[in-house]
Amino acid sequence: MTGKAYLVGSGPGGLGLMTMKAREVIDGADVILYDQLPGEEILATLPRDAELIDCGKYGGSHTLEQDEIEALMVERVRAGKTVVRLKGGDPFLFGRGGEEVETLREHGISVEVVPGVTSAIAVPEMVGIPVTHRRYASQATFITGHEDPTKPESALDWEVLARLKGTLVILMGVKNLPAIAAALTANGKDPATPVAIIERGLRPDQRVTVGTLADIADKARAAGVRPPAVIVIGGVVNLYNGDGLSE
Ligand code: SAH
Repeated sequence: MTGKAYLVGSGPGGLGLMTMKAREVIDGADVILYDQLPGEEILATLPRDAELIDCGKYGGSHTLEQDEIEALMVERVRAGKTVVRLKGGDPFLFGRGGEEVETLREHGISVEVVPGVTSAIAVPEMVGIPVTHRRYASQATFITGHEDPTKPESALDWEVLARLKGTLVILMGVKNLPAIAAALTANGKDPATPVAIIERGLRPDQRVTVGTLADIADKARAAGVRPPAVIVIGGVVNLYNGDGLSE
């Protein structure tokens, strides 16, 4: 008898933005593989009788390697368990969810994906920044900031990104922010373009730092900005409602 695998998005943080489907699947799980991105409020409600496997912190600094996580999932499903891989936000946006689905499928295991509210939209939204707006942006581009723009093998074309008129939303970009801001301005983006960094969105210690492409790297360093944070670049940042906490 084989079990079942679910890839579940928790939303950006806080029980209110988790879907009812996610709640139902989590509460019925035998095994839950999680990391810290869903946030304490959600992690505190994981069922005590399930096997809870901590896969690590954010982004790069995992206790378990990606292949170890996938192997565990395969093994537990084969043992007949209902297995949930819990992801912050939406599992298919920079969550390596696509890779996990592929691996499980290669092992003949079907996966049900439960979408989540992505931090890329909800975190700016909760401080009053819409990623699109008729006046400021008719498009939004979601970018991983994980790649160092100065590396020639970067999968991102900063020349093209610098030319886009809409909003740039950067996830996992704190470490490379100085290089990203430099790459955009070097490729012709206006240094006066407004930028907002929202750290730990929807958490009690949420913090917003605003600036321009010219000064945001210095401001972030001075403020000691740390991941997880969503970086928004573009005119929509002018709509920031000015208070750090929107709840
Ligand atoms: N799949 C997730 C993103 C995973 S990548 C989603 O859809 O939200 C991890 C990055 O997401 C972090 O480095 C950060 O850029 C962003 N992130 C996720 N939750 C966040 C939060 N509550 N506050 C700020 N940034 C967050």
